[in-house]
Amino acid sequence: MIKPDRIVTTTCPYCGVGCNLQLHVKDEHIFKVTSPFDSPVNHGNLCVKGRFGYDYVYHPKRMTTPLVRRYLLEVKEKPAGREQVFAVSKDGQPIDSQISNLWDWVETDWDTALNITADNLTRIYKRDGSEAMAVYACAKATNEDNYLLQKMYRAIFRTNNVDHCTRLCHAGSVVALQQATGSSAMSNTASQVIQNDVFIVTGSNTSENHPIIALQMKEAVRQYGAKMIVIDPRRIELVDFAEMWLPLKPGTNVPVFSAMAHVIVKEELVNHDFIEQRTEGIDDFLKSLDKFTPEYAEEISGVPADDIRKAARMYATAKKAAIYWGMGISQLSHGTASALALINLAFLTGHIGREGTGLNPLRGQNNVQGASDMGCMPFHYPGYMRVDNPDNRAKWEKAWNIEEGGLSLKLGLTTTEILSHAHEGGVRALYIMGENPMMSEPNLNETRKHMQELEFLVAQDIFMNESGAFADVFLPATPFAEKDGTFSNTDRRVQRVRAAHAPRGQARVDWQIICDLAQRLESKLGVASAYWNYSNPEEILREMGGVNSDYAGITYERIDKVGLIYPVPTLDHPGTPTLFKETFPRGRGKFHALDYVPVREEPSDEYPFILTTGRVLEHWHGGSMTRNSVLDEAYPEARVEMNPADAEIHGIRNGDPVKVQSRRGEVILRVTVTEKTSVGVVFIPFHFAEAAANLLTNDALDPQAKIPEFKACAVQIFPARENDLPNAEIVLNRGRY
Ligand code: SF4
Repeated sequence: MIKPDRIVTTTCPYCGVGCNLQLHVKDEHIFKVTSPFDSPVNHGNLCVKGRFGYDYVYHPKRMTTPLVRRYLLEVKEKPAGREQVFAVSKDGQPIDSQISNLWDWVETDWDTALNITADNLTRIYKRDGSEAMAVYACAKATNEDNYLLQKMYRAIFRTNNVDHCTRLCHAGSVVALQQATGSSAMSNTASQVIQNDVFIVTGSNTSENHPIIALQMKEAVRQYGAKMIVIDPRRIELVDFAEMWLPLKPGTNVPVFSAMAHVIVKEELVNHDFIEQRTEGIDDFLKSLDKFTPEYAEEISGVPADDIRKAARMYATAKKAAIYWGMGISQLSHGTASALALINLAFLTGHIGREGTGLNPLRGQNNVQGASDMGCMPFHYPGYMRVDNPDNRAKWEKAWNIEEGGLSLKLGLTTTEILSHAHEGGVRALYIMGENPMMSEPNLNETRKHMQELEFLVAQDIFMNESGAFADVFLPATPFAEKDGTFSNTDRRVQRVRAAHAPRGQARVDWQIICDLAQRLESKLGVASAYWNYSNPEEILREMGGVNSDYAGITYERIDKVGLIYPVPTLDHPGTPTLFKETFPRGRGKFHALDYVPVREEPSDEYPFILTTGRVLEHWHGGSMTRNSVLDEAYPEARVEMNPADAEIHGIRNGDPVKVQSRRGEVILRVTVTEKTSVGVVFIPFHFAEAAANLLTNDALDPQAKIPEFKACAVQIFPARENDLPNAEIVLNRGRY
């Protein structure tokens, strides 16, 4: 048995559960991962990603040296032909050799890379102003990294064009919760699920997306006798443990949830005291419910009216009930309305504000909650303080040593808007820290055109991914195992991240790269100095907590063992596992009257299937980490899931290659025939560059949250030949330099 040199306790870099990891290190390599049994988050349990998915840290494709394009060193002027950098010939071969070698990557030192970056960003800012500058923050990076990145763009470039992947996963939930309660996080901890008599899981394949929370849900059913209602188009694993499964058509959430509200009202199951004392807007809401009879909802959603009635009664009559939801609610062009329909149910029944009961959007990435808390959004400073409020602006001007009135009151652009504004007179320079829009944005053929329109692109990452390949400068950063800081999980628990060993090669931790670059930018622009001389990441968190009261009482010493659940307003505050016990941050909870708006693309004769997308257990997002780890062997290729009835009609057998085509693009991949997917619905995971699901998805946006409609678009399926399947090696190696 190998004896470790040391065991480092840290937090998992994959999903928002935030499991505690123990990294066993020998000779500056992690060789094993375990988990402490006394962890309040995961009690020693880990899923396959947390347990085995760490070897990407040592993958030969890890980027450990700064890179710049040759033209930046030799001729300065950008050569023509950028659109060909990533071109692939008809037989799938990269055709980079056909373009000017001025586009070649050249390894360089940090001083050169950062000076070139600072020169180009200041050149564009001086010429075109704040509107030309934009940045993507990173839900995988620490709170400290993210806080500094938005500070750099707001304090130096005076722009709120700051966003990150929350726009692509839970923006609808965030906006809905803000409107209805004034807060946007989960109201309870996930482990409180065992305290409920009834809980609803909807739009969340929890077993694959948040496996340890799924374990707690199953424990609630098996050991504590809770009843689970699953409302989901797919026959997910949790259905085996559920009292009821309501298999609705994708995008029909509002009629189903509103019909449940209709039943609760008609059968007098409402909590009158809660409504009177804690809410507003009930009258308009009640009027809006008239048409949402269970029969009307059945017609639209396919869920039998009697099942809607039964589910409504179960939820409303429980002593304690909660709702857990995922991207199936928010990733729609009416994602905000879908989440509001769930919130209305909690307000009607008073199932909120007590331990166990509540509203729980399960956040995806390990630190998407934290990146949002840190203000990496175009409408908010850290702590969800609106950027268009002059009082908020004054607080951050003081904290950052900015002249009065210096920060922008203008709302910024969202991720999808940043790219669609990439043209003359719009966004000219983009800085991407750890995100991969060329995998994560909808309608990738359109995204590709926008990426090519950028004048200057900086990628700061651990691998050269599909988006980094478009960059002018590449800055090699470190993964979780080589950095210190904090992540905030979906429970709002702020936990320590600790380095297991030094960075590989010349890679540097994100916050240090940002500080180094910010000082160069300030010096070139001659602007008043915000503070960038931090000696450790805790100083950064404390600066942020000086203005954002949710984090004011958090120190590294206090979160050393098990973290703290914010709000933690003072240094002796114990944290707040349950929100809204007495009141809502906006005062009264607000009911919202809703209408049914169909998805933008309904199936037709030409495109008869509804495509829905999501994750699988073994992989994570664009695959930068999991596809460069041993996990890729466990799930090595993209598959489209299809119901056996559909497969039979189309003469398709399990494992056959097929072409899936939408109005925007096509992919070729093999079929898995499975009853997990309903008739008329197909599912493709979005982790595979060689069959990128987002080539197909619709870029229609929710008007309020600006989240795209990833969960429903119309597609057609054709048989394909074996040799039509893409060569994954070629596609993946295009990201090499
Ligand atoms: Fe990591 Fe999430 Fe798995 Fe826990 S459940 S080990 S946080 S991926």
